[in-house]
Amino acid sequence: MTNATVQGSSIAGDRKTVNFKTSNIIPTYLFSFIAGKFTPVSRTLDGRPMTLLHRETDTTKIRLSMETLFKLHADAIRFLEEYTQIPYPFQKFDFAAIPDFQYGGMEHVGAIDYRASALFLDNGATRDQRLARASVIAHETAHMWFGDLVTMRWFNDVWLKEVFANFMADKITEVSSADANYDLQFVVDHFPAAYAVDRTEGANPIGQPLANLQEAGSMYGGIIYHKAPIMMRQLERLMGKTALRNGLREYLKKYSFSNATWADLIAILDARTPTDLVTWNHVWVSETGRPKFTYQLDGRGGTIKQFVISQQGEDGSQRLWPQSFELELVYSDHIDELTVTMDRAQVSLTQAIGKPTPQYIIFNSSGQGYGIFPIDSVSVLQLERIKNPVARASIYINLYENMLAGQGITPTQLATGHRSLLGKESEELNLRLLTSQLSDLVWNFTRPEARLALASAVERDAWQAMEQETAPGKKKLLFRLYQNIALSTEAKDQLYTIWNEQKSPQA
Ligand SMILES: [Zn+2]
Repeated sequence: MTNATVQGSSIAGDRKTVNFKTSNIIPTYLFSFIAGKFTPVSRTLDGRPMTLLHRETDTTKIRLSMETLFKLHADAIRFLEEYTQIPYPFQKFDFAAIPDFQYGGMEHVGAIDYRASALFLDNGATRDQRLARASVIAHETAHMWFGDLVTMRWFNDVWLKEVFANFMADKITEVSSADANYDLQFVVDHFPAAYAVDRTEGANPIGQPLANLQEAGSMYGGIIYHKAPIMMRQLERLMGKTALRNGLREYLKKYSFSNATWADLIAILDARTPTDLVTWNHVWVSETGRPKFTYQLDGRGGTIKQFVISQQGEDGSQRLWPQSFELELVYSDHIDELTVTMDRAQVSLTQAIGKPTPQYIIFNSSGQGYGIFPIDSVSVLQLERIKNPVARASIYINLYENMLAGQGITPTQLATGHRSLLGKESEELNLRLLTSQLSDLVWNFTRPEARLALASAVERDAWQAMEQETAPGKKKLLFRLYQNIALSTEAKDQLYTIWNEQKSPQA
């Protein structure tokens, strides 16, 4: 299989010669040649023939996966043709499942490679695995337009194709996998990983120069895969969905079968928004770091008289990251959600003035804002009462970032709060955040002399929560936490017994 259609073949003796048509114009990194003992399977969907090459032998996996694989590709193509208003641009569309492929997928024109284990799933596959499969298929298919039809001029803009592939994949899977909570997944997937790099002094910006192609591999990381999607989502909020989509259509049309830079795209988008995108781009894309938010609320007499939110660089600089985020005013019987358009260093939240003074405030409740947000100490105590799982995820992340910054909450306080939530957090994705933060608190933020006491307490809480939990995914997370922090003799004996008897712990 190559990037072009087979034109015919001939056999002479023990040799077979296969002829291919001339391919479309493609960059060299997208050339592909696949040969081996594969089974070809073909289907025609939406009038388009597609062929899959595979080596899977598990008949259950084949039966359960085959039609889904073709359908996911066809759905993605249909979505992209509509979104971009450009019909699938290449002469054919095939894909191959390669055993032990080093990436999840690679977007070779008309001949996508996938790691076979990501495509063929059986009955035991979790929702996460099915989502990941839909997502990688949408990602690679999106590359046919973003990356393959229009290619970055040089690898310093490699993030450009990756961020668009992910951006489109999110939109495609939002339609094709209706049961997933995308807002929650987005927050949990991207923010902790982006902050992990961007809070450090060694952070790299999204866009950075690349002097030598040899170092291209070093550009892929937390910033490209996690900060860039956050930046894109903010860009879409800033411009509006329609204006951004129309800008992308113009960009793809103008640079079809050629190269373009991020600056070329910004120039097209800038003409479609009143905001100065060049300035916006500078702080979000060319620079590193994140902002820190503070607020002043005058709520004397039971009514909000003034509510001012300020932003500055975490490094103390007077930089401004234009962005929008939500906050919730929490009252005893209801919640008021407000959107903050933070386009200046200091914003007066006029829509809050005149409202009753809330019990407490949840900053960044929709999770889309980027930076360190203030924490309201009352909210820490009432986390289990917050119904919105995205707001809870955002709070967990924000509490952790505040703890690291040494403001508002200590590691001990955070650990105590998290322990009490182990048996109460209903979302698996959120429990994953809680358990990984707890294990971090035990090993990295507790002095050796205090560690055994904390570990023992977490062991007890994790075990108890695990015994009460009925969902297998959450049970597994709680056991993993127990296993990670087991420090007491009792816990070690317990783990030894489980291992020795090869019996999983039962409630
Ligand atoms: Zn990619």
